[in-house]
Amino acid sequence: MTNDLLQLENLSEALLQRYNTSGPRYTSYPTAPMWTDTFGPKQFEAALSLPSTAPLSLYTHLPFCEHRCLFCACNVTITSQKEQAEKYLGYLFDDIDRFADLMDVAHTNRVVKQYHWGGGTPTFLTCDQMERLFRHHQSRFTFAPNAEIAIEVDPRVTTDEQLVCLRNLGFNRVSLGVQDIQPETQVAIERIQPLEQTEAMVNRCRELGFGGINFDLIYGLPHQTMASFDATLTEMIRLSPDRIALYNFAYVPWMAPHQQKIDEATLPVGSEKFTIFKNAIRRLLEAGYLYIGMDHFAKPTDELAIAWQQGTLHRNFMGYTTHAGCELLGFGVSAISTLTGHYAQNHRKLVDYYASVESGELPVHRGLALSEDDITRRGIIHQLLCDSRLKSGELRQQGGYDEALDSLGPLVADGLLLKEGEGVVETLTLTILGRILSRNTAMPFDTYLDSPIATTVEHLPKHEQRLRPVGADGKPVAVYSKTL
Ligand code: SF4
Repeated sequence: MTNDLLQLENLSEALLQRYNTSGPRYTSYPTAPMWTDTFGPKQFEAALSLPSTAPLSLYTHLPFCEHRCLFCACNVTITSQKEQAEKYLGYLFDDIDRFADLMDVAHTNRVVKQYHWGGGTPTFLTCDQMERLFRHHQSRFTFAPNAEIAIEVDPRVTTDEQLVCLRNLGFNRVSLGVQDIQPETQVAIERIQPLEQTEAMVNRCRELGFGGINFDLIYGLPHQTMASFDATLTEMIRLSPDRIALYNFAYVPWMAPHQQKIDEATLPVGSEKFTIFKNAIRRLLEAGYLYIGMDHFAKPTDELAIAWQQGTLHRNFMGYTTHAGCELLGFGVSAISTLTGHYAQNHRKLVDYYASVESGELPVHRGLALSEDDITRRGIIHQLLCDSRLKSGELRQQGGYDEALDSLGPLVADGLLLKEGEGVVETLTLTILGRILSRNTAMPFDTYLDSPIATTVEHLPKHEQRLRPVGADGKPVAVYSKTL
C-alpha cells in the first residue's frame, strides 16, 4: 500500500465537510472574478509589447456544439449550422494575425511549446477547416519540434477521417469527455455515449499514434451511486488513459438554465456522494495512478506525473500542464491569455467578439495587471498547488505572511499538511488529504476572498474561466467551487 492509500483512510466525511467551503480553483491568481473591464485592448496591447523570451502556449476556443449536454456549463454555442464555423474561422484568422503582428513573434524566436484546441466541440470543424486553422497558426508562430499539440474530442461526433487528419497535422494528445458510462446517468444528462464508442475511439487513437490520452470523468451526476460509479471506474481503468480528471458536478440551474431539466432528487448527496468520491480516489490509486491534486490523476510514466515529481508542474486555465514558464495566448471567443504580469479574457459573446475583431482591436473584454503583491502570492499558491510543498520557513523570514501561515496550523493538525524542519528550513508538504483539499491550503494567501465581489460563492462550473456569471444587477459575481 502506498502512503497515499494509507493516508486516504484518514479521509472521513466529517473532515471533508469541515473543509468543504466554496473556494477558487486557482487556475489564476487573482481569480477571474477580480478582473476588470478597465483593462481592455489597449492595456493588453501594451502588455504584449513588453520584452519577453518566454516560450508560448497557444489555446484556441472553438465554441460550437450540436447539442447541449445538461451537465455542461461551458461557454458554448449550440447550433447545427455548419456554416457558422467558416464565419468564425474568418474572425479567428484575423485575431491570430493581430496577435502575431503585435508580438512580432517571427523576430523574437519565441517557440510554441504547447498548443491546444478546446471547446465546445473542436471537431465541429471539417478536416479542411482544421487543417487551415492549424496551418494558419503555424504560419505565424514557430512551433518547437516536440511541442505538445492537443485537442478535446467528443467520441460521439468525431469521425475517423478527422482523427487521421489531426494526427497527420501533428496532434499528439487527445482529451475525451466520458463522464460516466451508465445508461441511466447518460440519459439524464442527455449525453448518450456507449462504452463501445469510447473504447473504439481510444483504440483508434492509439493505433494512429497519439501519445497521450486523457479522460474527463464527473462525480455527483444523476443516478450515480457508489456501485454504479465503481463500475464506470472499472471500465475506465481497463481502457487505461494516461491522465484522468475527476470533476465534481456543478449543479447550478440558476446560472445554467438547461440544468433545470435535471431532477435534483436524482443527484447523490451527503454520505453517498462522499463514498463515490473517496472510492473513486482509492480505485485510481490502486490502479497505479498518481494523485497530482485538484481533480487530476496521471500514470507515473505520464509527463504530468513526472513534472509533478520534478517540481516543474504548472497550472493555468487548462488545468495542470507540464509547461511551466510559458506565456499563454488565448484565441477565439471567451479565451484567456496569461502573460507574466497580466491576464486578459476575450469577449464571451460571439457578436461582441466579431465586432471587436472587426474594429481591428484585440478582442479583449476584461483583464488585470498584477501588482507585485499579486505576483508574490501567485507564486506561493503555485508552490502549494503545483509543487505540493511550501517553503514556509523562508516565507516567514521574508515577512508579511505570518497570519496566513499561522492559519495553516489546523491543517497541519488535521493531516492535510506535513510540517518538516525548523526555522528557515521549515517546509509544509501537502499529504493526499491536502491535495484533495488544496484550495483550502491556498485560500489563506488570497487577499481577495473578502472582496465584496467575492461574497456570492456557490458551486463552480467545470471550467471557471469559460463562464462569466453575472448577478441580478448585471455585475460579475464570484462563483467558486466545493470539493463535494
Ligand atoms: S460537454 Fe462538450 S459536447 Fe457537451 S455541451 Fe459541453 S462542450 Fe459541448
